[in-house]
Amino acid sequence: MKALVKAKPEVGIWLEDVPEPTVGHNDVKIKIKKTAICGTDIHIYNWDDWAKATIPVPMVVGHEYMGEVVEVGEEVTTIKVGDRVSGEGHLVCGHCRNCLGGKIHLCKNTIGVGVNRTGAFAQYLVIPAYNVFKLPPHVGDEEAAIFDPFGNAAHTALSFNMVGEDVLITGAGPIGIMAAAICRHVGARFVVITDVNEYRLELAKNMAKNIRTVNVAKEKLEDVMAELGMVEGFDVGLEMSGVPQALEQMMKNMINGGKIALLGIPPNQSPFDLSHVIFKGLIMKGIYGREMFETWYKMGMMVQSGVDIGKIITHRFHIDDFQQGFDVMRSGNSGKVILNWE
Ligand code: NAD
Ligand code: ZN
Repeated sequence: MKALVKAKPEVGIWLEDVPEPTVGHNDVKIKIKKTAICGTDIHIYNWDDWAKATIPVPMVVGHEYMGEVVEVGEEVTTIKVGDRVSGEGHLVCGHCRNCLGGKIHLCKNTIGVGVNRTGAFAQYLVIPAYNVFKLPPHVGDEEAAIFDPFGNAAHTALSFNMVGEDVLITGAGPIGIMAAAICRHVGARFVVITDVNEYRLELAKNMAKNIRTVNVAKEKLEDVMAELGMVEGFDVGLEMSGVPQALEQMMKNMINGGKIALLGIPPNQSPFDLSHVIFKGLIMKGIYGREMFETWYKMGMMVQSGVDIGKIITHRFHIDDFQQGFDVMRSGNSGKVILNWE
């Protein structure tokens, strides 16, 4: 079968012929229809320090996808051939303390599809039936292909109560922008999103009504807060840039006792001033992946009740033109990029 492979320990990614995966007793085989490129895939493409330390070579990469089930293992009873599906990219062990306690998104033995093991940028993917998410009929194919990052946005944005709250999102990447739409949907008062990239701030503006975008290279966040009539600071912060300065700026502008959810992955040993956390009594929560499977349930229902995530998709390519997809994603002037396998 055709697959996008991290074939060599250097910059790039290669479309190659690889053996089709076989189905174990508890597995499901999915014929991939659409995939999307994640920021993680760009790290892998660029072969940065994180990728060098993490990614086995050669390996098929990719973890944002949807497709149709074409084969199920003999023990599988809940998924049928013909089901339209996406899947949770974190494989968990089922026997550590958190798995047994029902907090499986906190499994200490988590393995990532397309990161630690064979991924979804291929004509076929085999994963445990447990990880498969059956798509509600109202979720379109392209929307389904970006459920993984939508799930990062949902897990983060739904971590704290938003009703009537003022929310600051730092980083208007695809995940930050989807989070802004969720904040609007669940009843925040002001939703302010920052970035330094005008293309992305424009995208954020088009995602939902009443999102205040701020280019922090040109405008002061403090001035925007004054303009909105905010007096004491943001109630909830969603850090979605991975940039230490953005987190610092967020901590400075939170209300005392404010709550911050951290999704963006900062560079190693990034310094920040903890005194804000202490003297303001901030509550901070790290976010990894999605809650299994509550986040998936909420995503399906939020799409049905009006969160239009399709707007974040800006580019579409056939898999044979994957290079163009990676190029536009690397340029920063894109939202989500879809690669079609059909
Ligand atoms: P992205 O890289 O596309 O978006 C980050 C955005 O931050 C960019 O648009 C960039 O221009 C912006 N930015 C740069 N400097 C800034 C500043 N000073 N202030 C505000 N914004 C600034 O990433 P994404 O795909 O949207 O993902 C968001 C973050 O979440 C990334 O750091 C990614 O690695 C991380 N992530 C974490 C998880 C997890 O499970 N914890 C999962 C997926 C992604
Ligand atoms: Zn576990």
